[in-house]
Amino acid sequence: MNDPLETARRAPERRPRQSFELEETGFNEVPKRFRKFYRRWRGPKDKLAPNEALCPVCKVVIRSTKELRAGDRVYCMPCMSRLELVEENGVLLAKVIY
Ligand SMILES: [Zn+2]
Repeated sequence: MNDPLETARRAPERRPRQSFELEETGFNEVPKRFRKFYRRWRGPKDKLAPNEALCPVCKVVIRSTKELRAGDRVYCMPCMSRLELVEENGVLLAKVIY
């Protein structure tokens, strides 16, 4: 399957993660079998779902079959960035791991 979620946080999780059914989004910048894991960002008014993270490098939305949490590491295939999710002011942000 190759979900972009590579490493889930190590801390014990208080509640189980939600699972998500991913549908085709029309994103065509990655090979077909990975397309459902990404979508285009529609700008600042775009609402990210609990299983989505915005890549700060290429502004593509990364989608996982699992709910994403702070401490998770995800892979952005369109720009080949490895990202770590951090929480800032209650918002989940993706930061590039150098
Ligand atoms: Zn990216």
